[in-house]
Amino acid sequence: MTSIATAAWRWAAGMAAAAILGSASAAPYPERAITWIVPFAVGGPTDAIARTVAQRVATELGQSIIVENVPGAGGTLGAMRAARAQADGYTLFVGHIGTMAAAPYLFKSLKYDPLRDFTPVFRFPDTPMVLLVKQDARYNSAADLLAEARKHPEKLTFGTAGVGSSSHLAAEHLAATAQVKFTFVPYKGTGPAMTDLMGGQIDAMLDQTNVSLPQVQGGRLKALALTSQSEMSLFPGVPTLAGGELPGFLASTWYGIYAPTGTPQPAIDALRDAYMKALADPSFTDGLRQNGIDVLPAAQTGPDALRDFTASEQQKWQRVIRDAGIAPQ
Ligand code: ASP
Repeated sequence: MTSIATAAWRWAAGMAAAAILGSASAAPYPERAITWIVPFAVGGPTDAIARTVAQRVATELGQSIIVENVPGAGGTLGAMRAARAQADGYTLFVGHIGTMAAAPYLFKSLKYDPLRDFTPVFRFPDTPMVLLVKQDARYNSAADLLAEARKHPEKLTFGTAGVGSSSHLAAEHLAATAQVKFTFVPYKGTGPAMTDLMGGQIDAMLDQTNVSLPQVQGGRLKALALTSQSEMSLFPGVPTLAGGELPGFLASTWYGIYAPTGTPQPAIDALRDAYMKALADPSFTDGLRQNGIDVLPAAQTGPDALRDFTASEQQKWQRVIRDAGIAPQ
């Protein structure tokens, strides 16, 4: 079935489901457990932030949310699985900068269209990134690392979560901006990549603040620089790339919850409302901030804001990928 026909069929099925849900006899949503597909391995930053948000949204909904890890191909395998799921409000996708914005320009035959096959539900908080090396690495600054990369092109190995993952995109952006070349080593998520970084199997990686913080605080990894606009009190003494080596260089990983197109509106509304209530709870938002996560204002969080943001990010990454000379595979 072509993706247009699929979308049409979904729309019709969604309308039928909406008619049932909308009728007085329809059970209130959710009447059973909900699945959130996370397209990266357990233990990575996507898994971590998804479980934190899912736990809080589940409390508001009074229903459990099961996180199902479906890793592979930079997150696009999980995206494909979610795009084909029943559009009934019980399977949702944790999409991000790679799967929803960059993937269409990195894969020649992507089996889903982020904004045709999915309906945005709400935008998660953002996670800035950290340039990481193992604790006893001989590099003590981004300048040290980039000098080595300039001296020996492609010698430095950079762990990523696969083509199109945020760790890959940020590293490509860093290489293009610094005019150096790394050798990328793909994993099913940056959780396993981080284990290899600590073991010295790879030289460096860019990963998100929420999972980097405990490793840096625990003395297992060394943070050379942040990819945020400003320094962070959680990473004392760690400079930003933008404020030093690479003026203007910024990178962060954004996320959103997306539903298969055709998902009934009452389900989308209930999920969005549950998250908005969580955002109003300082114990939830303070907990995110204590893990280096940027909580966004409610105005940037709803379905329309996420749709507009996803579209603008697709234009941005189409340009960055073209300018970096990254050929789609
Ligand atoms: N979010 C990470 C990335 O895109 C992967 C992960 O969560 O494991 O690189």
